Order: sequence, then structure tokens, then C-alpha cells
Amino acid sequence: DTPHPELDVRARELDRAHVFHSWSAQALLDPPVLAGGLGSTVWDHAGNRWLDFSSQLVNVNIGHQHPAVVKAIHEQADLLTTVAPSTAALVRGEAARRITAHAPSGFSKVFFTNGGADANENAIRMARLHTGRDKVLSTYRSYHGNTGAAIVATGDWRRIPNEYAYGHAHFFGPYPYRSEFWSDSPEQEAERALRHLERVIQSEGPAGIAAILLETVPGTAGILVPPPGYLAGVRALADRYDIVLILDEVMAGFGRTGRWFAFDGYDVVPDLITFAKGVNSGYVPVGGVILSDDIAADFDETVFPGGLTYSGHPLAMASIVGSIDAMEAEGIVENAHRIGVDAIGPGLRDLESRHPLIGEVRGEGVFWAIELVSDRASRAPLSAGAMGQIKKGLFTRGLLPFVQDNRIHVVPPCVVTADEVGRALSIYDDVLAVAERG
Ligand code: PLP
Repeated sequence: DTPHPELDVRARELDRAHVFHSWSAQALLDPPVLAGGLGSTVWDHAGNRWLDFSSQLVNVNIGHQHPAVVKAIHEQADLLTTVAPSTAALVRGEAARRITAHAPSGFSKVFFTNGGADANENAIRMARLHTGRDKVLSTYRSYHGNTGAAIVATGDWRRIPNEYAYGHAHFFGPYPYRSEFWSDSPEQEAERALRHLERVIQSEGPAGIAAILLETVPGTAGILVPPPGYLAGVRALADRYDIVLILDEVMAGFGRTGRWFAFDGYDVVPDLITFAKGVNSGYVPVGGVILSDDIAADFDETVFPGGLTYSGHPLAMASIVGSIDAMEAEGIVENAHRIGVDAIGPGLRDLESRHPLIGEVRGEGVFWAIELVSDRASRAPLSAGAMGQIKKGLFTRGLLPFVQDNRIHVVPPCVVTADEVGRALSIYDDVLAVAERG
């Protein structure tokens, strides 16, 4: 392909002149230009290439430009590009059937939204209507989206300038490496975190609590793999106090952990499941709520007071059908599992053994975090300045990283190969060595 560096310049000019970006002070931005991609690789107009170990926003699970998904979108575009949500569209039913086929038994219906935030928004609404209660409990270390209730359910800093919705309370989830509970083992962390949650439920008043909303594996907050027994314990507390358990699988679902749903690995079944991102790898914006039959039955005779013009949009539905079919046919979820066990896990543990900057590595599938510290004994997080240098170093060496606080999240597409993981590991290795010398 002919390189067109002038298009990179033009893209940057137009962006700086007219595009208002998420979560940013606009004048400080210098976003990279991306023009194309295939699998785990992306490139700009000049032909510079990067290994995409961010999967963009941890959503391109099937890799860039998967031909089956692109074809499914094309075919649907030729047939009918848009249709009202009140119609019955074959492609919508096919998408919902494929999603529920991977859910536990007793989950037959899907409500489609435009993305992850409004999936959580509607799950919260369903839980409130189901219980007749108001409060939603979620963890401080969480992100649930940027709409009215979803942003206030979020625990991280993004909640604070947006605290206008009502009925939210937060608690601490488990995080063995930086325990809030002075625990010295994952088992003790789970036990103490559960005791803390029960105390929060009692203190907030169980009769007012509609839902516990949790990311099965908190993602942006640090890929905090739950310790053994924690999620089962949360399920037991939800049952004891008649609270709806919503598991947010927006980032963790559809292959990221090496399983179709992250909760499949934790012996727990929620009441509502929210999803987005990996369901179609973001080729067309979409998300949704998978409802347990019990909650779905509430709205058999009673009107569900919610809806969206684009709920079940045909192009999004076709991309879900194409994506799930290809993931099944090509063993893409199995690949994510295998690559985590055989390549990413051992590779990161090797880096950990050689680099004093690494405090901990953790994860599963294609969902890993490298937590960087300035001192292993005190676990002091590496400074923002040093993290900025590391991010720049990775990018300069041809890796598109996902850097969050003092962590590098190693989150390639589920189709990543062992060879690509090897190349990425040697880039992380080089950049950490430079940071340690500096
Ligand atoms: N929930 C989780 C766990 C997420 O990671 C995100 C986005 O990063 C969301 C919800 C919000 O999804 P969206 O940005 O599609 O609204």
C-alpha cells in the first residue's frame, strides 16, 4: 500500500480543530492516528505499524477487520440498515439466541442497548423495579460507564464530578496486593472483604438495597482477579438479603478471560448480566442486559419503562452474529485461554523475576496487569511521570499499550499468536530495562 503521511497530518489537524475527546483536557492532547488494522496489528497512513496490546479500549476481542464480521455487516447493510426496535427482525433474534446460548440456563432474553453504560443503566432500573428498592452497592475500584446511574455506580475518580444520581453506596472489593483488610492470603482477603460487604449492607439497610453491581473481574481498576470464594460469598449475601446481583461483563465477557463469561470460572450465577465490547468487538456500537427468567417475567404483563431508538440495531445485530459464529468456529475463546496459560502468564512472570520495577503481575486469558512500583518493599506506585515515559517508550518501539495509573494492562485481542506475544514481551522487557536504568 502506498504510504500517505500527509493524511496523518490532516487527521491530526482536523482532530485538534474539531473533535472534543472523552475524559481529557483538550489542549493537552496528541492522539495517535490509526488508519487501518488486521488481527492484532494496526497502522497509520504513513505505514507505521503497532502491535495492538490495548485492543483499543479492551474491546476488539476478535481482532481488527475480521473478514466474517465485516462481511456480516456488509450483507445486512445491503438488506436493511435500520429498523425500529418495536419490530421483530430475524437478525436480532439470531443475535439474542447466540448470546443466550452462552449464558447459564434460565437466561432466555436479551435487552439490547447502545453500549456498556446504558446496559448497566437498564440493569439497575430492572433491579429497582424487581425489588421495589432503590440503593445500588458497587465497589470503589470499578468503572461501569458514563450515564446517570452508571457513572455514580462507578467507584473510581470519574464518579466524583458526576455525582447527581441518587441511591448509590460504595464498598471495597478484594485486592490482595493492596489489601484494605490487612490480610495476608487471598483466602483471608475474600473472607474479610465479605465481612466488610455484609457490614455495609447492614449499615445501608438491606430493606432499601436493590442491587449489588460488580465487575466479575474489575478491569480498568487493575484486572483484580477475585480471590477464591469471594464471588460465591457475594452471591450468598445477595440471596440472604434478597438483593439482585448484577455482574458487569462489559470488559471481562466474550473471551477476554479465556471463557465466554468471566463468571463461568467462579461458580456463581448472577441475576442480570451486562455486556458490550467483546460481544461484537465494537465493530458497531452495542451492549445489552441478559435477564434471568425470573426478572424477565416481571415484565410479561407489566410494561418495561425503558427503550432506545437503536435497541437491537440491525448492523450491530449482524456483527454479533458474525462475531459469535467466527469465535465458535475458530476456537477464539480457547485461543485466549491457551495463550494466557502458555505464553502471557509465563512471559510476564519471567519479566517479574528480572525487573525490580514490577510489583505484581496478575490475570488470565488475554486480561493481565503489570503493576509497577518504585519500591517492592513498600509497594509505592511508580510515579505518573515515569509511567508517561514507559508509555511513550512502548509506543516508539511499535506497541500500542494500555496504561492506567501505575499499571500496564496486557490486553491483546483474543486471536493474538504466541509469536506476537513474544514480540510484545521483548518490547516490555526493553522499556522496563530503560526505565530501571533511568
Ligand atoms: N462496564 C465496564 C466494566 C467497562 O469497562 C466499561 C467501559 O470501559 C463500561 C461498563 C462502559 O461501557 P461503554 O463505554 O460502552 O458505555
